[in-house]
Amino acid sequence: MAGLLFGTGGTPHSAKSRSTIDGIKRIAELGLGCMEIEFVQGVKMGEGGARLVGETATREGVKLSAHAPYFINLNAHEPEKIRASQNRILETARIASICGAESITFHAAFYLGDPVEKVYSTVKKHLAEILNQLRKENNRVRVRPETMGKPSQFGTIEEVLNLSAELDGVAPCIDFAHWHARTGKFNSYSEFASILQQLKERLGKAALDDMHIHVSGIAYGKKGEIKHLNLKESDFQYVELLKALRDYEAKGIVICESPNLEEDALLLQATYSNL
Ligand SMILES: [Zn+2]
Repeated sequence: MAGLLFGTGGTPHSAKSRSTIDGIKRIAELGLGCMEIEFVQGVKMGEGGARLVGETATREGVKLSAHAPYFINLNAHEPEKIRASQNRILETARIASICGAESITFHAAFYLGDPVEKVYSTVKKHLAEILNQLRKENNRVRVRPETMGKPSQFGTIEEVLNLSAELDGVAPCIDFAHWHARTGKFNSYSEFASILQQLKERLGKAALDDMHIHVSGIAYGKKGEIKHLNLKESDFQYVELLKALRDYEAKGIVICESPNLEEDALLLQATYSNL
């Protein structure tokens, strides 16, 4: 893959309808390169629909990924909630794979007041079970836990990189807006570069060649993320981020999750190509 592809989290607003297929067509018309299918309220796409989505994406030259439902907590205290969470990730991976997507992203867990080391091993154990099942099904979709925007949520840079280093089939989804909102920092060239350096040291150069990035403007407070904003209405230093990505020769996909979706995706793409 040449460089970075830019696209939207979900069907662009200017698509003919809200359908995934019209979303893919609109992405291609706009000259964007990728789209993340949002299964955030549940995986409602069937196998037949997924095949059509995959054919459309191939024809239009749009790279796909999928976002698993929000209702996931691999650190839930009730075994049935763990199983339901695992099933939601598995369902996402199965349909995503039929769509031709190479990666799925998800929000892994909440700490629920538990010690962070304990949460890490619990999440790792339940994630390993998911990967075993996917291996049995010969499903090679990369499973990508996201860096999360609130201190109550599992998903620091270190946690996500450690899971990626320790579990075969896991790779990071670096949401730079979430990390900025969570820390109140990481909003300058040198800080963005430090994340990329950490990723390179922990996972090797290959991880920089296969990045999955989420970006948006973001509002935040003491408890981290409040809501996503359009880039120009936020303090997010996206030009600095794009410069760091260029200097580290990062390749992969950049999914824009600003409320205006394609407008900011196009802004990011144009800014990047003019650096
Ligand atoms: Zn997400």
